[in-house]
Amino acid sequence: MASGTLSRQDALSCVGCRHACHILLYADTEAQLFEETPIRHILLMQMRFDGLLGFPGGFVDPSVETLEDGLSRELWEELGFSLSVTVDDHVNSCHTPSSSQLVAHFYARKMEEREIREVEKAAATTATDHGHEVMGMVRVPLYTLKGGRGLPNFLSHSFIGNCRCQLEDALLRFGLVPREELEMALQQAEQRRSQP
Ligand code: AMP
Ligand code: MN
Repeated sequence: MASGTLSRQDALSCVGCRHACHILLYADTEAQLFEETPIRHILLMQMRFDGLLGFPGGFVDPSVETLEDGLSRELWEELGFSLSVTVDDHVNSCHTPSSSQLVAHFYARKMEEREIREVEKAAATTATDHGHEVMGMVRVPLYTLKGGRGLPNFLSHSFIGNCRCQLEDALLRFGLVPREELEMALQQAEQRRSQP
């Protein structure tokens, strides 16, 4: 297990901890940007009410429902899409940097491109949280074009909690971006953030 991460079971045995569950939904795609740059994969994140980027999900009370049932409920509210999350979708759990009493559980589910489009459609139409807790879904650009356009610029935005780390980890774990490309993009993002 990577340093700083807990097993799902150890995380659940934390006395007095609150639990937050979030998920990465992603799909492969053959689509190209400007008919030349492969988009490769569609990854969904969201613009939150507080202006930060994050993954769909939220607080779950394990004394009331399982982590996975709670996450499925959150997804119904935020995406208007019924997705039954299971333990098989669990990626990792960790104490958040903001508070050791808050445990962040991260999940991922690979879908078909057609299903991702359905999620996006429902999130903007029937989801009860649309325009309230969630301002809209966004796709993560995975390519790097001249001048840091694409992934470097995306990574220079502000993210909730440790979700930028969750994103970086998932990009490598699921082979969505080569390591050298990600490292380069992170450097460029840092340069952009430190520009006056
Ligand atoms: P939410 O209801 O989605 O805002 O999430 C519940 C709590 O988890 C909030 O206090 C957020 O600050 C925190 N949070 C949201 N996303 C993440 C994340 N990816 N990693 C760590 N904490 C998060
Ligand atoms: Mn949420």
